[in-house]
Order: sequence, then C-alpha cells, then structure tokens
Amino acid sequence: MHISLVIPLLNEEASLLELHQWVSEVMTSHNFVYEIIFIDDGSTDNSWRLIEHLTSKDSSVKGLKFAANFGKSQALNAGFKKAQGEVVITMDADLQDSPNEIPSLYKMIVTDGYDLVSGWKKKRYDSKIRKNIPSKLFNWAARKTSGIALNDFNCGLKAYRLKVVKNINVRGEMHRYIPVLAKNAGFANIGEKIVKHQARKYGVTKFGMERFVNGFLDLITIWFVSKFGKRPMHLFGLLGTCMFAIGFFAAFTIGFLKLLNLYYYQRPAPLVADSPLFYISLTTMILGTQLFLAGFIGELVLRSKNNSANYTILEEL
Ligand code: UDP
Ligand code: MG
Repeated sequence: MHISLVIPLLNEEASLLELHQWVSEVMTSHNFVYEIIFIDDGSTDNSWRLIEHLTSKDSSVKGLKFAANFGKSQALNAGFKKAQGEVVITMDADLQDSPNEIPSLYKMIVTDGYDLVSGWKKKRYDSKIRKNIPSKLFNWAARKTSGIALNDFNCGLKAYRLKVVKNINVRGEMHRYIPVLAKNAGFANIGEKIVKHQARKYGVTKFGMERFVNGFLDLITIWFVSKFGKRPMHLFGLLGTCMFAIGFFAAFTIGFLKLLNLYYYQRPAPLVADSPLFYISLTTMILGTQLFLAGFIGELVLRSKNNSANYTILEEL
C-alpha cells in the first residue's frame, strides 16, 4: 500500500463527504493504492454516521470512533497505530488542507528520502490576531529550542515514512511537536513544503486561545524531556552542587571573618546573623539540597518505570 491518510476529526459533518470525494479523485488519478483512516474524536454531530456510510460504499475508508473527545494528539496516535501505507499523511478534516498536495508530499518521502515532510501554510487564511501572529512567535520558540528549521510546526498536513509513525508516541497535546518527537526518535531528515491553505469553509475552529498557553507549556516540557528526560541528575545535580558550593563558601567566609576578628584583631566580632552572607548561605544551601533531591527523585522515577521505548531500531537482519 502506498499511502495511509490519517484524518482526525471532531464535529466536521459538513466537510466529510466533500473531503472524501476530493481525496478519492486525487488518489485514483495518480493510481495510488491507499487507505483513509478517519478518527472520530468524540463527535456529537452526524460525523460518525457519515463515516459509516463512507465505509459501506468505499473499501479504502476505515473508521475509528473514540468514546469521548480525547484530543487531536490521541486521535493521531490511534491512526498511526493502524496505518499500513509506505507513507503516512495526516490532514485536517475541515478542508483547510488541500488533498492536491498529497502526490508531491508522497514523492518527497519516497524519492527525496525525507523521514518527515511538514506543510507550511505560508499564506494563511485564519484570523490574524488570534492565530497568525501568536503562531509566528510560537514557531520561533519551537525552532530555537528544538533546532529544527521549520516555519510551521503545527501544520495539520504532514507526511511521514511509516517507520517514523510506528516509533513515536503522541501523548498529551504533543501533536504540535511531532517533528521534535521524530527527531528525538532518531529521524532527523525533516523537510518542509509550502502548501496551499484555505479558509475554513464549514463549522468552527476547535482550538481557542488556550492553545497558546498550553502550546508554550508543552514546548517547555518537550524541551526539558528531550534534553534531560533520560538523565535528570545531570541538570539538577549540577545546579544543586553549584548552589551548595556557593552556600558553603559563604558560610566558610562568615566563620573565617569571625575568627579573624576575635583572635587576630582581638576585637568583638559582629553577630553572624547580621551578615548578608549568612542569608545567602542559608538559602543557597537549602535550595542546593532540594535541587539535588529533585535530581535523585527524577532518577528513581526513571528507574521504576518500564523504559522499553528509549531507543529506535531502524533495521534488523
Ligand atoms: N480535532 C480533533 N480533536 C479535537 C480538536 C480538533 O480531532 O479535540 C480535529 C478537527 O476536527 C480538525 C483538526 O483536528 O480536523 C484541526 O482542528 P481545527 O481545524 O479546529 O484547528 P485550526 O485549523 O483552527 O488550527
Ligand atoms: Mg482548521
């Protein structure tokens, strides 16, 4: 099978038939052997009935129905588990992504050898203030922390080599950072393709302003996890040791000055608690111990969970 199309959706009844029609046209005109996997992420409208109808008349359509709205990341993850095509392409269900891009995305994976190709909505048809400007900032931060040169991390239209989707786990709200997950799993050949974007034709956006708060928090998490997730002690241990050293040095200075005053200059020394160094040593030693403990606990947590997925096997003979 050439292509698995993975389409997560939440209440998109108005777009589904048109989308299916368009995708089928593109696929048959290029003679692709393909499957379309719709993942109904807890829709409350007619979406699932439409998917049932599509599966009954088109054998390349498959459907998964979530029991509730678990989120786009989970929907993608479920689709990735099921996908069988040599190339897996994800797409939003709201007709904002154009199926006409499928053949060139497929070619970039198969011929040009990319592991992942991400769409770039260079000319974007969404609200400027609510989406375009915040997303510029967001993409800049994602580029800086991940070192991946993409302009549009969160584009729904992406193509993957099958191995990539089988070796990543899209948890939480991490669908915005799939390129980072792929890079962490060892698939660093990541490309970008400018894609045509359209304004939403039917229905409304399913993500509000909270996407930016959550998006930035997730970015910090993924940065931390990819850098120190497997070795928390290297960060906390270092910080803790530095803090503790500063505190120890401050305490030593206080003691030294006290003795110097008492025995060398033979004069009454100021109280230890009057010195600013006293407070510095107090706080830094306490903080240092706590950081160190955080590192230890992080290591214990890592040891206690089953870490089977800490590596990716590319080939086996
Ligand atoms: N979606 C989903 N689960 C959710 C939210 C959204 O499966 O909890 C789907 C939605 O139906 C659409 C895609 O994810 O197919 C992108 O959502 P949307 O178009 O609302 O996002 P936007 O284009 O506004 O960024
Ligand atoms: Mg959309």
